[in-house]
Amino acid sequence: MSTRIRILPEILTNKIAAGEVVERPASVVKELVENSLDAGCSEVIVEIESGGRRLIKVADNGSGMSREDALLSLERHATSKIANDSDLFRLSTLGFRGEALPSIASVSRFTLETREKGCVEGTGIYAEGGSIKEVKVSGVPDGTVISVRNIFFNTPARLKFMKSAETEAGHIGDLMTRLAISRPDVSIVYLNDGKTVFRVAGSDLKVRLASLLGRSLAADLYPVSLDAGFGSITGFVAKPDCSRSSTSHFFTYINGRFVRDRVVQHAVMQAYRSLLERGRYPVVALFIQVPAGEVDVNVHPTKHEVRFREQGRMHDAIVSAVGNALRESPWLRRTIDSGHNSHGTKKLSVSERKIEEVRDLLENYKTSPLPSGSFARDAHLEASRASGEVTRRTMPEEADKGYFSSLSVIGQYNARYIICQDDADLVIIDQHAAHERIAFERLKKEFNSGSVESQAIMFPETMDLSFRETAAMRENRHGIKQLGFGVEEFGGNSWVLNAVPGILEKADCGRILHDILEELQNLGRSSSFADAIEGILARMACHSVIRGEQRLTLQEIDALFRRMDDGDFSGNCPHGRPVLAKLAASSIEKMFKRG
Ligand code: ADP
Ligand code: MG
Repeated sequence: MSTRIRILPEILTNKIAAGEVVERPASVVKELVENSLDAGCSEVIVEIESGGRRLIKVADNGSGMSREDALLSLERHATSKIANDSDLFRLSTLGFRGEALPSIASVSRFTLETREKGCVEGTGIYAEGGSIKEVKVSGVPDGTVISVRNIFFNTPARLKFMKSAETEAGHIGDLMTRLAISRPDVSIVYLNDGKTVFRVAGSDLKVRLASLLGRSLAADLYPVSLDAGFGSITGFVAKPDCSRSSTSHFFTYINGRFVRDRVVQHAVMQAYRSLLERGRYPVVALFIQVPAGEVDVNVHPTKHEVRFREQGRMHDAIVSAVGNALRESPWLRRTIDSGHNSHGTKKLSVSERKIEEVRDLLENYKTSPLPSGSFARDAHLEASRASGEVTRRTMPEEADKGYFSSLSVIGQYNARYIICQDDADLVIIDQHAAHERIAFERLKKEFNSGSVESQAIMFPETMDLSFRETAAMRENRHGIKQLGFGVEEFGGNSWVLNAVPGILEKADCGRILHDILEELQNLGRSSSFADAIEGILARMACHSVIRGEQRLTLQEIDALFRRMDDGDFSGNCPHGRPVLAKLAASSIEKMFKRG
């Protein structure tokens, strides 16, 4: 009888495991640097070429390996970090599966050079697609150097899935940031295509955050420190003004391991709840230390998710740790002292300036010639307004009036909504959504006809970006210019913003640009700038418009309605919120039990 089931050869199983462990060049960097940290190094040098696609080289001054260990390290499930079941619940190292090196070696041209401290000679191993081709004596200094060349050279399907060198380098840059934040005591050098991206000496967490996330941000960080008995939470949180449009600046670690955990994230958001607008996320660097038995990190091979033994207790501890820090921070006290909520005085003056701008915008926006007799009509409206007369008006008949212009304006409600009458029905228009829609149409028109109107800034601003943002900026530089932003590289991850889209208020531009870069980073592999453009324009439109109350004159309402009639006004604002709601006469009658 023949069997159809067979045990797969090891080279093949390693390649299969590589599918899980090695998703992209950044995963290789992660595994190698984690090994270096586990080996107790005080310095790591990471070098990549072509986004890691051509070369990833990680050198450390850690423990090094003997020749036997070096050979063993390339065997599947070979690890020095755990020996039995119970060790799995007492992990103090970043690695434990013994899968990384064989997996990486199986999909690359792999060189390992290592020397154990105090040994006279080191070992060099060369492997190709998982099979060892050469073992020799090496003159490497104490520590380990691993070079991974031509990743995925023997797995064409994977090779195809790699993105541009800049995108892959961006992922590696982000990862390096996360690793560097996790171990401020270790010196780290990161080089990309021969250029130093960052070089940070061993220091404390605050200094490290400053050198990685930008000096401007570091000034707004406040310390977190809580001993919850079953564990501790330390780190820094940033003031809400530094918020981002995604969780890209959530640096959360459990027992030194970066995690992207739902429970942790939820708890942080809860602590910030009343301080952030919807869709905004804070900048935090939090270190949760718990006994290894309190948390299971063995949930996923990339180990980003964890399982807490007592989830609720952990959640509450994070909420109070972050909450305490926020309550004690000077900016919040200032806001409370001055008797304002989160929409403080400063915000009001900003929105006042915005009101002026939207007025200008509406003024400049009369592209269609005014209908004949409009002067008389405006004068009539002004007169009725001045006399405090009921603002319901009867418009002179005009042949080509659009829907909005033909509505009779009853008045404004809460300085946010325009109340109108359409025959017998009641129509409520959300001013903010309407303005947003107009801004969106204008941006879209300008963008499609070449570029968005741009305005030079008198005092150019410096922006400190993350590595991934820098990558997205470089990759989409042309498109960003077309959006009306003038940006120039200023060295490292610093950029100078010297022009902004005319439609936007300058004060918000840095934040909008961060958001746009975020959107660009999240693009799928096959998508391009063009696929993101609608979303980006909607975002810009949204930022260009006042959110709060805004008293409008009848002329302004009139101008607004004419703009709405001019555009392709599908009734929804770019974020899908309705611009208009209608209450039929019959439902109003019903409300009063007349129907
Ligand atoms: P794991 O880290 O899960 O143990 P790896 O495949 O990443 O598995 O590494 C296998 C073993 O090789 C490690 O347990 C460690 O003993 C050794 N090793 C790997 N990298 C280094 C390094 N940079 N310095 C010293 N030892 C290393
Ligand atoms: Mg490892």
